[in-house]
Amino acid sequence: MSEPIPEQSENAGGPQPSPQPTKRRHFRPWLLFAMLLALVALLVARPVWRADAEASTRAAARTVLFDWLGVSPRQLFVARLRVAGLYDSPLGERWRSAIDRAAPVSIGQRLERQASFTEDAIEAHVYDVALERGEQIEWRLSRDTPDGARLYASLEYRADGDDDWTTVTELVADDEPEHAVADRDGDYRIVLQPELFGVVSYTLAVATGGSLAMPVEGASTRDIGSGFGAPRDGGSRAHHGVDIFAARGTPLLAVVDGRVRTGTSGIGGNHIWLSGGVFGIGSARYYYAHLDSFNVESGDSVRKGDVIGYVGNTGNARTTPPHLHFGIYAMGGPVDPAAFLRPPPDLPSS
Ligand SMILES: [Zn+2]
Repeated sequence: MSEPIPEQSENAGGPQPSPQPTKRRHFRPWLLFAMLLALVALLVARPVWRADAEASTRAAARTVLFDWLGVSPRQLFVARLRVAGLYDSPLGERWRSAIDRAAPVSIGQRLERQASFTEDAIEAHVYDVALERGEQIEWRLSRDTPDGARLYASLEYRADGDDDWTTVTELVADDEPEHAVADRDGDYRIVLQPELFGVVSYTLAVATGGSLAMPVEGASTRDIGSGFGAPRDGGSRAHHGVDIFAARGTPLLAVVDGRVRTGTSGIGGNHIWLSGGVFGIGSARYYYAHLDSFNVESGDSVRKGDVIGYVGNTGNARTTPPHLHFGIYAMGGPVDPAAFLRPPPDLPSS
């Protein structure tokens, strides 16, 4: 199967009717504005996950290569096979089909694996796991054979029912823990393969779990009493969050760095909206309701883990035991917080 060769499209445009100069001046700012809008839309709607990259030059270079140009180091190697005339050879074919031939190893909640690629076997190693939106995967990859052959390592994603995999990020074999948060449900896999005839030994540690700490101090998933989507008010509306039961006055913690807005009315009673980031643009918003009291004022900046208020039963929870109603609102609307709040990944230590 050969990949299509990109063609230089030559728009042999005939003479264009030149627009009126006045019209042109009016048109241009709009064109710029539209391009800017399109760029923003592209950035916001960029598929799959943000690898939460520590901003290093290396990560930035990878970002340009992958996310913008859509070319992975593995694909570059395939291109080199083509240049070397090996692409359609039995060897090239065997290298390219190695991932499909591999028997995937299930990651589950955690896995640690030491493995090698030998010179004579042309193979790839595949580790897979299904994740829900809001779960995260953490990994640490190290090479036990320091120099020599190139090792291609990537995290890939496939939507439920899809055939094709998309590269989420490249894994760097630097023995440092890294992580990525699933921003949609689907299958995820880590793929490792050395260059042709490459001899590489590696150690891979992987763990999966929730991506947010519990917003109630000392609480665990067992304290979640009412789930997302449960009917409310006789079925006229659905429960757009989870209820985390705790003693009155238990501290409530900010789940992300951000800015808070407080309110005291409505069904939420004393409530807080927490928006991530400095301006809250593009971030999910986190809703804390039925507070007994506040530890912040509207407009305050908070850091993850800061106490922002205390558990109570204000608003329409007056007749219920004290609990926090916790909601997550993303761009598409309310999201089930349950997967976000699972116990965090427990990466096997090196
Ligand atoms: Zn609730």
